[in-house]
Amino acid sequence: MSTPETNITHIARRMLSAKAEQFTESVIREMTRLALKHNAVNLSQGFPDFAAPLEIKEAARQAISDDINQYAITWGAKPLRDAIVQKFHRTQGLTIDPEREITICCGSTEAMMSSMMAIINPGDEIVVFEPFYENYGPDAILSGATPRFVKLQPPDWTYDEKELAAAFGPHTKAIILNTPNNPTGKVFTRAELEFIRDLCVRWNAFCITDEIYEHILYDGTEHITMARIDGMRDRTIVINGMSKTYSVTGWRVGWAIAPPETTQAIRKVHDFLTVGAAAPLQQAGALALSLPQTYYDNLAATYATKRARLLKILEQAGFIVYKPRGAYYIMTDTSRLTLPQKYRSSSETADVSFARYLVEEIGVACVPGSSFYNDSRDGASQVRFTFCKKEETLAAAEARFAHLHP
Ligand code: GLN
Repeated sequence: MSTPETNITHIARRMLSAKAEQFTESVIREMTRLALKHNAVNLSQGFPDFAAPLEIKEAARQAISDDINQYAITWGAKPLRDAIVQKFHRTQGLTIDPEREITICCGSTEAMMSSMMAIINPGDEIVVFEPFYENYGPDAILSGATPRFVKLQPPDWTYDEKELAAAFGPHTKAIILNTPNNPTGKVFTRAELEFIRDLCVRWNAFCITDEIYEHILYDGTEHITMARIDGMRDRTIVINGMSKTYSVTGWRVGWAIAPPETTQAIRKVHDFLTVGAAAPLQQAGALALSLPQTYYDNLAATYATKRARLLKILEQAGFIVYKPRGAYYIMTDTSRLTLPQKYRSSSETADVSFARYLVEEIGVACVPGSSFYNDSRDGASQVRFTFCKKEETLAAAEARFAHLHP
């Protein structure tokens, strides 16, 4: 016999979406909340804790004063679309049409979701490299795609060509690429992109390529957009945004660049999801994207210093580190570190216990490795740290790691 309580649970269950039940809240965002709760140094979520460039902030203030306060055109303010065209041409040598090939969205997160919803049909599969940025899991579930995972193997995060080829098939609608990669820092080479291209062409698949870290590169690495690879221009959706390049993750301005027919579908989904991104911030974006090359050189140089700093801190603390070639994360292996008895648990994977121990007792927040894998056991000995933080934040983390015993 059911009690009133179980009845309520039962009714509540029936009322909720089966899709939403298939994924959990974002672990990355949760770690930031835990960092605040425990007053820990937050090296979990990838957002800068330093100021955005003065001229970009001034442009946003000016836009509001100038009364750019109503809806922009749903697929994006013209000045920002024009700035994207110019920048894409300057950095990647490709000419795109601002009227037919760009959709400005509320962050690259929405650009990715709108793109997926614009191309996925029931029965479609997508190929996803793992470890992957955690959003791609829920993106797949909500759009209705079945993911086929392909491993990137440490320490260089290379993929096995046979494994990748086997993941493609007649139901493949797209491959999701993220280069420079979160969480591994891998930057896909031209040869790798060409191998992926051959599979996309063979199986008539799209490539959705998340290039949000395009300017955060080390050791002379070059970012090549998949759209530039011969034969891929018409089957590539490029996802990008202002967040990481201009240190404005809270502005939520991102975009999708895609061929006209695909863009038409993306624009429709986007319009009914969000109507549009913040108009004054799009206006400021036009200025941001016109900054000179020196801005991007400085950005990469600043992050190179922070990368070296955090690599050293983590190595000294006893982590095995995987040196990133791009983006601003360091994947680590924790197997040389011991977890206090009270944190050993059979109900969660070791990375989650380790992250809890680190945030609660050591006072540093990281992201458990399992957040980046389909099978949580695959990430059980890994945790991710970010170094998009002020020197004083990194120094505070260093001091706290002194209490960690290898
Ligand atoms: N990309 C960031 C990360 O991986 C977070 C982005 C977000 O939380 N929306 O930490």
